[in-house]
Amino acid sequence: MKSIKILSFLLVLLVISNCKNTSDDTEPTSSIITFKEDTTPFTAPQKEMIREVVLESEKEIRSLLPTLPDSINVSLEIVDWDLDQVGGVTGRTETNSPPVVLIQISEKFPGGVTQATQTALKHTIFHEFHHLSRGWAIQDNVYGPGISVAAINEGLAVVFSEEYTGESMEADTPPEAAIAEQWVEEIRSLPINANYQHWMFQHPDGRLAVGYRTGNYLIRKAMAKSGKDVLELSEHTPDEIYKMAGF
Ligand SMILES: [Zn+2]
Repeated sequence: MKSIKILSFLLVLLVISNCKNTSDDTEPTSSIITFKEDTTPFTAPQKEMIREVVLESEKEIRSLLPTLPDSINVSLEIVDWDLDQVGGVTGRTETNSPPVVLIQISEKFPGGVTQATQTALKHTIFHEFHHLSRGWAIQDNVYGPGISVAAINEGLAVVFSEEYTGESMEADTPPEAAIAEQWVEEIRSLPINANYQHWMFQHPDGRLAVGYRTGNYLIRKAMAKSGKDVLELSEHTPDEIYKMAGF
């Protein structure tokens, strides 16, 4: 009787450890997370929460984007910038090889670093990792220059993040269709070396994030007209996506 009890106990243990192994095997994570603390240090609970968000996001993204590289370096720092429009977190994809993503979290966000992490870190990781899956990085970008190319690559990342995190940011919202159509024409007639800062972030005429917002509009229009989802669209070149959107 005793041996049967021991046997069934061992069996339960075996089942539990098998389940655990199975889930680890199917969703591996390899991100290397580092904290840049030259100015402001993170607290231990903040680091724990950040690691959890990044690794959980990576698992989800790997199941969606098979071209995501391994061993992504994610370096995070605390800044005192006003990032309220993007949930307190921003980032950029610095290089494809090695894969490096730099993330800034604002201590000025209402509720501080912890609240910003909860609000927008997942959203930002989905955005930046989409860039890595396509090779859209600042230093070793595999696409040509130009705002029209940037709008498509940013639009894909914005829509991917919106679709799979369920969160959208005010800063990336497209204007109404009639205006968005004008912005598309404007972007497509710009010279190849048009000012990136002006067209992607702050235009001297007062408009904000024209490239991102037009990109969001273009991707959603291409999806509606082609019947493809954002993952399928992500396999296409900017030229092909413009055609699908009717341009
Ligand atoms: Zn981006």
